[in-house]
Amino acid sequence: MAVNREAYEQIVADLGSHRVTLVAVSKTKSVEEIKEVYDLGQKDFGENYVQELTEKQSELPKDIRWHFIGHLQGNKVKQIAPFVHLIQSVDSLKLLQEINKQAKKFNRVIDCLLQVHIAQEETKFGFDERELTQILATISDSPLANIHVAGLMGMASFTDDMNKVKIEFRYLKRLFEQYEKWTIDNCQFAILSMGMSGDYQIAIEEGSTMVRIGSLIFGAREARN
Ligand SMILES: *Cc1c(COP(=O)(O)O)cnc(C)c1O
Repeated sequence: MAVNREAYEQIVADLGSHRVTLVAVSKTKSVEEIKEVYDLGQKDFGENYVQELTEKQSELPKDIRWHFIGHLQGNKVKQIAPFVHLIQSVDSLKLLQEINKQAKKFNRVIDCLLQVHIAQEETKFGFDERELTQILATISDSPLANIHVAGLMGMASFTDDMNKVKIEFRYLKRLFEQYEKWTIDNCQFAILSMGMSGDYQIAIEEGSTMVRIGSLIFGAREARN
């Protein structure tokens, strides 16, 4: 099996001193591999696809905190609403409203992060600064009782130019600080989710509170994402 225990222990040690939460990104990986990392003490796992997530959730220990980190379609929210711990990839008001509706059915309040588009690449989902201000104003005016907006998530450009990555993370941190001061009932910013296998050290230097790491822990993935 491809789980890299040494890398995992090293990351946990790195993050511990900074009080940063590790989400182990297990997309495309088997339940056996996930169980192996779970047995090392890991409780937070991240997935990108609804069907894959629901299948794994049904087979794995119930104290795993499942993070949804991929693009989420409104018609699939109901499948993860009963158990999902944190939806990190909210990229529209419509999606937030659907999460609210499904959460209500299950009598839950679902924690969400708003995904911000910080990379220069066209392919990444997320709000820009203006849209972010708009959506926060909207939920401030008409609160959604069954969601809780806990912060922001962003992905930096996929590049070797670490200076560029640093600038993008710094920008996200600045937005986070701006809205951290807001006191809306269902919106308290506490989580800044940024940093992946290739850039998590920079993300931590720039103020990340949560990193999402896949390939460093589980080994490289087959091309799909
Ligand atoms: C796949 C993925 C990750 C993890 O990427 P690695 O480079 O394997 O660490 C983190 N965040 C999101 C949103 C992802 O889709």
